[in-house]
Amino acid sequence: MNHDDLRHWSKRAADWAHDYHATLRDRPVRARTSPGETAARLPASPPEQPETPDRIFADFEAIVPQAMTHWQHPRFFAYFPSNASPASQWAEQLANAISAQCMLWQTSPAATEIETVMVDWLRQALGLRAGFRGTIHDTATTATLGAVLTMRDRATGWNSVQDGIFGQAPLRIYASAQTHSSIDKAVRLAGIGQANLVKIATDADFAMDPARLDAAIAADLAAGRVPAGVVLCTGGTSIGACDPIARCIEVAKAHGLYVHVDAAWAGTAMICPEFRALWHGVDGADSIVFNPHKWLGAQFDCSVQFLADPAPQIRSLGLRPDYLQTLDQEEVTNFNEWTVPLGRRFRALKLWFTLRAYGLEGLRTMIRNHVAWTEELAERLRATPGFRITTEPRLSLFTFQYAPSGGDADALTAALLQKVNDDGRIYLTQTSHEGQFVIRMTAGTFDCTRDDVMMVHDVVRDLAATL
Ligand SMILES: *Cc1c(COP(=O)(O)O)cnc(C)c1O
Repeated sequence: MNHDDLRHWSKRAADWAHDYHATLRDRPVRARTSPGETAARLPASPPEQPETPDRIFADFEAIVPQAMTHWQHPRFFAYFPSNASPASQWAEQLANAISAQCMLWQTSPAATEIETVMVDWLRQALGLRAGFRGTIHDTATTATLGAVLTMRDRATGWNSVQDGIFGQAPLRIYASAQTHSSIDKAVRLAGIGQANLVKIATDADFAMDPARLDAAIAADLAAGRVPAGVVLCTGGTSIGACDPIARCIEVAKAHGLYVHVDAAWAGTAMICPEFRALWHGVDGADSIVFNPHKWLGAQFDCSVQFLADPAPQIRSLGLRPDYLQTLDQEEVTNFNEWTVPLGRRFRALKLWFTLRAYGLEGLRTMIRNHVAWTEELAERLRATPGFRITTEPRLSLFTFQYAPSGGDADALTAALLQKVNDDGRIYLTQTSHEGQFVIRMTAGTFDCTRDDVMMVHDVVRDLAATL
């Protein structure tokens, strides 16, 4: 296959993509395949001789789509969305054609400079104060790892950069029990250790209690441990919990600690001013992460980290070996120094295209619709006999149980979820909340309509009646 073939086959791929999206509503959302089925359809060894594009394409069509879960399906209500707007898909085609490796300004001047401008457009869109700069990572997990590594090195007076943390008194990181497992992963990878991630108890609203945070820090100081940083969440993954950012930052700063805010999902909603109360005080954070690849429509992968001052993170992550030196390095931004991996994709292009193709007002309308439809659905379920709302809607996420009187709510809810996902019209997933098995419902895909969201009510009501 050469570039002339590619011209033909990429047009075929574009046509295929159009038809795929046009027929998504007719497909079951979750893949109907069992483990091993796809692997069994592939030859056990690679071909010795070239194969023709039409054979490759035919196998793709025969094997792949029916064994995929369709994340762009308008009735995908599981996990969090992984939205790919048409404009984003278009940008990815172009970034794909160029296939640049964007590690240095010199290797990707336009990519580096568009990234700088896009991060600033998003800063303004989210209502963050001037002064935050930032970069794009693959995922929030990596951005949070960058922040935790910075907390570690800053807390050791930067000695750990050279000497590691051998012999170092335990470093301590604080987070609420509602924070994402990426924080646990970060403390493990940073060598801080799971035991030194202190999960602060939450209040009745599942938000971190600032007084308990203060007490935990004080107790660690008294015990000779070294507080290093605080990770707060706006929109926790399980039920959408939000920590009181301003009050927790006040406590953290009184102890001189670095603060990272994980708003991977909920950050997108902050393009709507009416939701910003959920992260009131966020301007005081050192680091903030949010994923345009979740709700905004810039497809996976695209995770933006804002930094009040990039210098500490660059001190932890930035290296300039001989082979990466460039003449202009003092005048330009070399984003590999801000991130864990050296190599980087051209991710800013899809942000540029998405923000322009829909405008902030268009994106706000989408977010507001998702939130309003989710609230309407929650009210419908609340009014339906047998159903119980277990956590109230936070933005476009709530949880519920099927709990008819006299039944075992956990078992019935689990059985209902299985039926729903085997049925295929909608896709929902579960979480555990206060020891209960609950179903999470979150609306967020680009093409989702009010009818799609309301169908959740009809599907779960009808299938519950068959249990
Ligand atoms: C999804 C999510 C993450 C992890 O996101 P990745 O980009 O997949 O690493 C972290 N925190 C929160 C709150 C999330 O919702």
